[in-house]
Amino acid sequence: MSQTDELDDDNWLNGEEITCPECHERLYRLDHSPLLDCYFLYCDSCPMRVDISYYDSTCTAIADALPSRDDAYATLMAALEARLRPCDCGGRFRDSAPRRCHRCSTVLTAISAPSGVDVWPGGWTGEEMDFDSVEEQFTARYFRTENLWKH
Ligand SMILES: [Zn+2]
Ligand SMILES: [Zn+2]
Repeated sequence: MSQTDELDDDNWLNGEEITCPECHERLYRLDHSPLLDCYFLYCDSCPMRVDISYYDSTCTAIADALPSRDDAYATLMAALEARLRPCDCGGRFRDSAPRRCHRCSTVLTAISAPSGVDVWPGGWTGEEMDFDSVEEQFTARYFRTENLWKH
């Protein structure tokens, strides 16, 4: 985690426009906001992601069962990954899965350290944009928010 940008509060999540190398879709990379009360884990084979609420009962049970250690985040991610139901494409949801273009599924090599980085549609920062409706449509299509866990 970089400390260098900490005081740059105009862009404290390192938001940056990127372009898909394959289909040239405009995308936006953003560090996962600590203000969001959820984890996103990404499929390792397609652009789908899961949205795990901090308050999800399975999530809290998994977290409570972990020993507290310095590498708690990585340990928690591994424990969550092991319990998640596979993606419909057959892939597995992982914190460190390569991020992909949501349009063509190409791996975004510009994001070399994907853990903790989210990818959103481009133009996200445009003031003219209907932010809520874009987020809603994108979330409905690319996020799994229910039936997350293996039984
Ligand atoms: Zn693409
Ligand atoms: Zn998938």
